Amino acid sequence: MPESSAAQPAPASGSDSAAPAASAGQVHVSSHPAVLHKLALLRQETTEPKKFRELVREISWLVGYEALADARLHPIEVRTPLEEIEGSQLADRIGLIPILRAGLGMVDAMLELMPTAQVWHLGLFRDERTLRPVEYYNRLPDSATVDLCLILDPMLATGGSATAAIEVLKRWGATRIKLINLIAAPEGVRAVSQAHPDVAIHCAALDRQLDERGYILPGLGDAGDRQFGTGRDTVS
Ligand code: URA
Repeated sequence: MPESSAAQPAPASGSDSAAPAASAGQVHVSSHPAVLHKLALLRQETTEPKKFRELVREISWLVGYEALADARLHPIEVRTPLEEIEGSQLADRIGLIPILRAGLGMVDAMLELMPTAQVWHLGLFRDERTLRPVEYYNRLPDSATVDLCLILDPMLATGGSATAAIEVLKRWGATRIKLINLIAAPEGVRAVSQAHPDVAIHCAALDRQLDERGYILPGLGDAGDRQFGTGRDTVS
């Protein structure tokens, strides 16, 4: 079971076409050609960890850029060499919450986009007995210090970890939360959308279904293993 999957996968739907039925209210799937080009390379099983990490970073940047389209601004005065004008400055204080470990590869790209963002790591694993996500690491400050929280996890599979992370953030006081994924499964989208309809999901692809082990199909295998060169035999 991949580490970011934290609940039982829903039964497979059986179709082999992309873009399956999933509650689509708050799901934003990128259609940018640069994203689609990089995504094909990312999925390719021959893509080595170094290239894979580069692609995770590049796609994260592009999806993150799209996810920030509604970030709030405030006006600032700008003096060009020729004139004074009113410019804009990002007003939202942003928190990045990478889900360990696969979300780590998305952090640098997001910090490039928003250098002043705060980063809080959150570690979740699945309790094999209860099938519930268990939090094993949490570096959130005592109270909410940001306006917008971006949860970073390359794969939205069952939605168990994502839902747990959202619950942690809401308990902590977060009011605006977005999920940034590279690939989402319809089962995960459905789980998150039902539990948290206020949370928008931004991804590069919405894949077909989960398999019986909780892997996304067609997916890319285990995003943590592929980034960090571990467990090459976990996907047969
Ligand atoms: N996590 C992964 O890394 N891959 C999947 O396919 C599902 C969850």
